[in-house]
Amino acid sequence: MRWDKNILSPRWGNEDNHTPERTMIRAFQKTDLRRVASVALLFLLATADAFRTTHLPAPRASPTTAKTTTKTKTKTKTTTTTTTTTAMRSSTGTGGAGDEPPVTHVVVAGAGVIGVSTAYYLAKNFGVATTLVDPTGTIAPAASGKAGGFLALDWNDNSPALGPLARRSFALHEELADDLGADTISYRRLECVSVPVGENGGRRPAGRKLEGIEWAEGANAMGDASVLGGTRTIAQVHPKKLCDAMWERVLELAPESKLVRGRVVAPEDKDGDAGADAAVAARLEDGSLLEGDALLYSCGPWTATNMYGTKYHSLVVPTTRVLHQCVFFSGLGDPEVYVRGDSTAYCTGFPDPPVRVAEHPGEEEVRPEAIDRIRESVRAASSFADGASTSYLVLGDDGDDGRQAPLEQACYLPGTADGIPMMGRVPGKERTYVCAGHTCWGILLGPASGEAMAHEIAAAGGRGSSQPFVDLGMFSPGRFGRPLELVPAFGPER
Ligand SMILES: Cc1cc2nc3c(=O)[nH]c(=O)nc-3n(C[C@H](O)[C@H](O)[C@H](O)COP(=O)(O)OP(=O)(O)OC[C@H]3O[C@@H](n4cnc5c(N)ncnc54)[C@H](O)[C@@H]3O)c2cc1C
Repeated sequence: MRWDKNILSPRWGNEDNHTPERTMIRAFQKTDLRRVASVALLFLLATADAFRTTHLPAPRASPTTAKTTTKTKTKTKTTTTTTTTTAMRSSTGTGGAGDEPPVTHVVVAGAGVIGVSTAYYLAKNFGVATTLVDPTGTIAPAASGKAGGFLALDWNDNSPALGPLARRSFALHEELADDLGADTISYRRLECVSVPVGENGGRRPAGRKLEGIEWAEGANAMGDASVLGGTRTIAQVHPKKLCDAMWERVLELAPESKLVRGRVVAPEDKDGDAGADAAVAARLEDGSLLEGDALLYSCGPWTATNMYGTKYHSLVVPTTRVLHQCVFFSGLGDPEVYVRGDSTAYCTGFPDPPVRVAEHPGEEEVRPEAIDRIRESVRAASSFADGASTSYLVLGDDGDDGRQAPLEQACYLPGTADGIPMMGRVPGKERTYVCAGHTCWGILLGPASGEAMAHEIAAAGGRGSSQPFVDLGMFSPGRFGRPLELVPAFGPER
């Protein structure tokens, strides 16, 4: 069946495609009972959460650009930063208090694309330093370092919540390429097509060239490709390189920033153990405290008990030359192939059922049979009649053909019960924020989410101003109607 990017995309459609309800319907269609049972559980949780605000229309923000000069006093040093920023309005009613102590140092839990993007915009737009804390002590050890890096301008346009965020973020990725270097982060524009395939794809008349396909014209291609987007609306970035480069820039712009190894287990405020000089503090597993003027939880699927993760495996293989067309195969398991500018191709598909994540970040088990399934599916979808191999993707599993060995990995896509990220202040907690649940679009949405969170956090200390690029109201963490249980312990006891 031919699918439309806004209607039937298994991974890349609007938020409706990622609700437990939709996933359950798809599971029924595939008659996968194990998947149905686990998703039904999530559906019940989601229903109990009584989400109300998803489908309110999103105001399209009309940004007003203002030149602001901010004086930033950090613990050892005063820096003056002049930035051209778009004024922001605090959408959750937390900001703008004139007599609030200023925000100069923020503790961010989670070194994925969301945490690093927030640190980047805190430093760039406000000169605010970040203590970034992650259990691995590294940047982007989980999904943010293992994702495809596919970016689309308009594939979320039918979502009032995500459409404006995606458009803003697509523009910010272009700015990031200018700031950090397109080569450094492997940013480029490219094309994307859908190619229908089937076991007996040879229905196509022999010798007939398929229109619009650069490399995926295998024997099993059943008809002409649908072009899903061209260089005006499709781009790509290497997610790990992006996160690394953003963090390097943070260290230049706000040198008080640092990366700490540790797992945040609880927030502390003035009524707790935060200490007289700190607005908040993060308590780590070893009992130590990291103090700051604000605390952000951006721990992906590990952020709160109302979140789940969908495990995906992926395989990065060499290509025989640089290719310029990402391919969503339709049929034969719907594998997805994102070709990259470094003569590699990122292949993924076949998600596990969504779960509450028990595995430790950065230590996600790679199951060989899951990798083989992706490899065989891509091989079947794109091979020529002899079935041996594609002409462009080096899919062999021995890695001994003289080229780079395939990279095999697994990670979790983070989701909330309604498929919309949570972004804003934690209800009932001052200076404590959450930003997580960006599903299959976290790399795309990271910069605009980080920008919005940076402005929200700065506004709480009387910085920033009143008009956002993106209204965070529809992302309110309070919409689930019950207190958030943050950073639960790793492991099956969750
Ligand atoms: C296979 C796959 C392909 C994808 N491809 C794309 C794509 O092409 N384009 C796109 O836009 N998106 C893509 N995504 C989605 C994207 O990768 C995610 O949405 C995004 O990486 C989520 O970022 P994050 O920072 O929220 O979470 P993560 O990257 O999961 O980071 C969370 C961090 O929090 C840390 N942490 C956990 N618990 C704690 C704690 N208690 N204290 C401190 N730190 C903690 C973890 O160690 C981790 O580093 C893909 C996802 C998958 C799974």
